[in-house]
Amino acid sequence: MKNQITIIGGGLAGWATASAFIDNGFYVNLFEGSTQNFGSQQISPNGWTYLSQLLDIKKAKPLLENFNVIKIKSINLKQELNLLCSYNVNTELGQYGSIERSGIINLLKEKVQKTNLIKINKSNVKYIIQDNELNKILDDKGNLVTSKFIIGADGVLGITKKFVCGSNNSIKFKQVYRSISYKDKPYKLTKSIMQVIFTQDGHFVIYPTIIKSKKATNYVFIPNEEGLIPPVIYNKTLKLLIPEDIEWQSLSTIKNKGEYSNIHSNGVLLVGEASIPTSPHLAQAGNQVLEDAAFIKRTLIEHKDIEKMIFSFIQNRYEQKKYIAQKSSLIGKVLGSNNIIGNFRNTMIKSIGPSILEDILNPIWNIEDAK
Ligand SMILES: Cc1cc2nc3c(=O)[nH]c(=O)nc-3n(C[C@H](O)[C@H](O)[C@H](O)COP(=O)(O)OP(=O)(O)OC[C@H]3O[C@@H](n4cnc5c(N)ncnc54)[C@H](O)[C@@H]3O)c2cc1C
Repeated sequence: MKNQITIIGGGLAGWATASAFIDNGFYVNLFEGSTQNFGSQQISPNGWTYLSQLLDIKKAKPLLENFNVIKIKSINLKQELNLLCSYNVNTELGQYGSIERSGIINLLKEKVQKTNLIKINKSNVKYIIQDNELNKILDDKGNLVTSKFIIGADGVLGITKKFVCGSNNSIKFKQVYRSISYKDKPYKLTKSIMQVIFTQDGHFVIYPTIIKSKKATNYVFIPNEEGLIPPVIYNKTLKLLIPEDIEWQSLSTIKNKGEYSNIHSNGVLLVGEASIPTSPHLAQAGNQVLEDAAFIKRTLIEHKDIEKMIFSFIQNRYEQKKYIAQKSSLIGKVLGSNNIIGNFRNTMIKSIGPSILEDILNPIWNIEDAK
């Protein structure tokens, strides 16, 4: 019992945390639920460094598509394209690029499944019932598990957040759009570049990636207001980068920062998206998932005790994640402005864009600064 942990959630946080516990000799009982890990995400130097503490990073290297430059552009109502800023990424901080989410999850799964320390339950947890110092977990197949410690890795709307915080009603969501193209032209046009393109209706985030070993271009469109959809681009150059026939898929993402409520109660510790909801504007939510897991691994090595690890997690990770969530939310407001504020934003980016990016990204990407 002492060296046993239950993890609820089979996304990036669930598997990264399972890996951290298994590296410390824990027996892990993981409830995977339905899996729907699609698409790519940006991985920044901090995320890559922490990923390398969780698995043999050589295996992840073929999944990584590096970026050297961040380009910020705007397109006006006359469809004229304007380059606002070209920022050469500080490669000394480590790897920056994109990675397929299910690719990392599969590597973590592969690693932990080689041990006899994991039990995977292909079911959804329905109830967590507090029973003195223990927790009883009932899944949708009628299985009952008793566990003193639970890791809540079931995302922002999960059952563990409700258990710990009482409710998750304060979180607001926003519709964004994502798409993938396997065409050669857009991939070549965006190779090594992470691009942000402002339009009147919202902004595109476009970068190259590798999906199931195929070269691809990843698109996200974040509307300035509810109801706005990705605009059709008529500018000749941009039409090659954003082909008209790409199919947009709408999905919900976190809009506000939510209330910063508890992340722990009665042995249930929230990690990843379940802990502090983070909007996507800094591309950090998934990187912070890796940082959470690496922190758990390090702290368990140091203390060899779950209660001490939980205490240390609350003391250290809570503040760091809150800071990132607040920063991300603020950046979202600036990125999502139009008219006068949007014009002011563009002017600022044009004149001092690289130093703004450096000031925003360095404290998060440079793990020495973050400590
Ligand atoms: C459009 C978009 C772009 C993004 N881009 C980036 C980026 O560039 N960089 C970055 O770092 N991050 C990015 N993110 C964020 C990143 O994807 C998430 O932070 C990360 O996937 C969260 O992982 P998680 O495991 O905490 O939660 P989730 O991915 O939500 O996983 C939770 C899992 O728990 C399971 N589950 C839920 N309830 C139960 C239950 N009752 N029982 C059992 N299982 C359950 C679910 O099925 C799911 O598999 C982006 C997100 C979006 C939407």
